[in-house]
Amino acid sequence: MDIITLLPDGVANQIAAGEVIQRPASVVKELVENSIDAGATSIHLIIKEAGKKLIQVVDNGKGMSETDARMSFERHATSKITVADDLFSLNTKGFRGEALASIAAIAHVELKTMLDGESVGSQIIIEGSKCIHQEPCQHSAGTSISVKNLFFNVPARRKFLKSDSVETKHIITEFQRITLAHPDIEFSFHNNDIVVFQLPSQSLRSRIVALFGKKYNERLVPIQEDTDIVNISGYIGKPEAAKKTRGEQYFFVNNRFIKNAYLHHAVKQAYEGLLQEKSYPTYFIFLDIDPQSIDINIHPTKTEIKFEDERVLYAILKSASKQSLGKYNIAPTIDFNLETGFIVPDLSPGQSIKMPTIQVDENFNPFDEDKKARHRSASLFTPDRQSVPTNYNELYDIIRDKEIAQPSVPNGLNTSAPELLPTNQQVKIMQIQKKYLLTSVKSGIVIINQHRAHSRVLYEKFVRNLAMQPATSQQTLFPEVLDLNAEDFQIMQEMWDNIVKLGFDIELFGKQSVKINGIPSDATNMNAKELLESWIEEYKYELDHGGRNKTELLARSLANKLSIKAGMTLQVEEMQQLIDNLFACEQSNLTPSGKPIIVNYNFNELERKFEK
Ligand code: ADP
Ligand code: MG
Repeated sequence: MDIITLLPDGVANQIAAGEVIQRPASVVKELVENSIDAGATSIHLIIKEAGKKLIQVVDNGKGMSETDARMSFERHATSKITVADDLFSLNTKGFRGEALASIAAIAHVELKTMLDGESVGSQIIIEGSKCIHQEPCQHSAGTSISVKNLFFNVPARRKFLKSDSVETKHIITEFQRITLAHPDIEFSFHNNDIVVFQLPSQSLRSRIVALFGKKYNERLVPIQEDTDIVNISGYIGKPEAAKKTRGEQYFFVNNRFIKNAYLHHAVKQAYEGLLQEKSYPTYFIFLDIDPQSIDINIHPTKTEIKFEDERVLYAILKSASKQSLGKYNIAPTIDFNLETGFIVPDLSPGQSIKMPTIQVDENFNPFDEDKKARHRSASLFTPDRQSVPTNYNELYDIIRDKEIAQPSVPNGLNTSAPELLPTNQQVKIMQIQKKYLLTSVKSGIVIINQHRAHSRVLYEKFVRNLAMQPATSQQTLFPEVLDLNAEDFQIMQEMWDNIVKLGFDIELFGKQSVKINGIPSDATNMNAKELLESWIEEYKYELDHGGRNKTELLARSLANKLSIKAGMTLQVEEMQQLIDNLFACEQSNLTPSGKPIIVNYNFNELERKFEK
């Protein structure tokens, strides 16, 4: 008996959709790319509920005829290639003819389109691959596609979608990639009726600034190299603008965003010796290559491509990056309002170059650790009275109670806190290598990592601040303003309440800026602006990696930043206070990220060592 049949189109399309459309952001990418391929000069993106409810793209491109409008939803229906050879001279984003068919298989789609020069357009409504309505309609030249209820008939997919903030972030990422590749096209982006981006047709430099914020004005230097194989253009970040988390790294090949670890390595190599450990350079690099020498067909979403001669490309890119970084030493900043790259000021005879002014703390002595430690500890060691018992007898009880309920920890780590000696015995504490505290307890001796101990103490305090008692805030003399780009501002808003609970007094300032009026009274030595910026980066990282610990992240990060570090000399009282506070913690043996704080030698172990 024959059992093989061809899949019905709707099912085949749904399967194809699994590859092309992973999430709302994939729909955004496909629709906007179609608009670009249609020659649009103005493209508007509208989303509701992270695209789960609505994704609409409106363009002023060339539009479609009535028949094409219907055809466009068929699988393998494309106007962009006709024979396989066309693949090697590709100048369009799309060519697989799959996107619209895939989207129509898993959503409710409404298309309105009209060819330029016509007076009536067509409207088509398709649900789950079925055309349920088609009629002539009024429309301006161009195309508008609305995609509603994505994955309505694929519940497993719908369930797999992340929270609105994660999905919105994916959409913003996609939007940034496309709009960077086409600064000449005007774009707008509305999210739940709020304008996220409004981008006029502009230069690449202005586009970068419009997307990522004014800071980028001074951070970038142009890169330019024309060879027979490739033309390189764009901007790369000055070494000091490198970020601790991945930051902004963009490669475009023939105006298509791509990911390529090998080329990334080439750029990174150019920064050799210029970057701090674990920081990543920012770059927006455009490679123009003969389409004959690349193959973009290897990945359905086309973010990975194969180059004919990757090694040569590597070498050219590395040397171009190096050159541009070298040049930057002469021209420290570029002015984004000017359309050309390097501006060397004209000096009239006799005029001298004005040296930049920097502020120096003349009394600062990096080797005077004691002074630094004292300075910091003054504010850091203010005991948290509600939770810290004042004498060891009380502590003794607390620790015993604590041993009953300890959170689960990695195997092999001892999590029960050692019992301290009762108060009537004189306890000596010694600091070793300005890093460890050595003291004796009832059962033996303990060595405590001072930095880790303090992070634990602060962390638990901040967790309490977040959960029940907001921290007190201290007004700053000169409020600072943090200017953010749309993406970062969105993240800032999500963190807002928690940031306030941790003792920051912040207010909305203008459309996308935050004014810092006060900082936690524990943290008066800290650069609040930098801290908030690093939180945004850490938060993004967390979102990219599952986003489970977003609240706790702030407490952990603040604790880590404010805690005393190795290398600080502590006074006896400070050590005493730290140990008191540590043993009053819910979990005194491990840092919030699970690293050991205390090493414990009991007397039996010591005895054994001396037996031999
Ligand atoms: P592809 O882009 O790979 O050709 P799609 O499924 O994305 O496949 O689109 C199918 C066809 O529909 C395109 O080739 C194009 O002719 C037409 N089309 C899609 N979107 C638009 C648009 N916004 N304006 C004009 N034509 C469009
Ligand atoms: Mg397409």
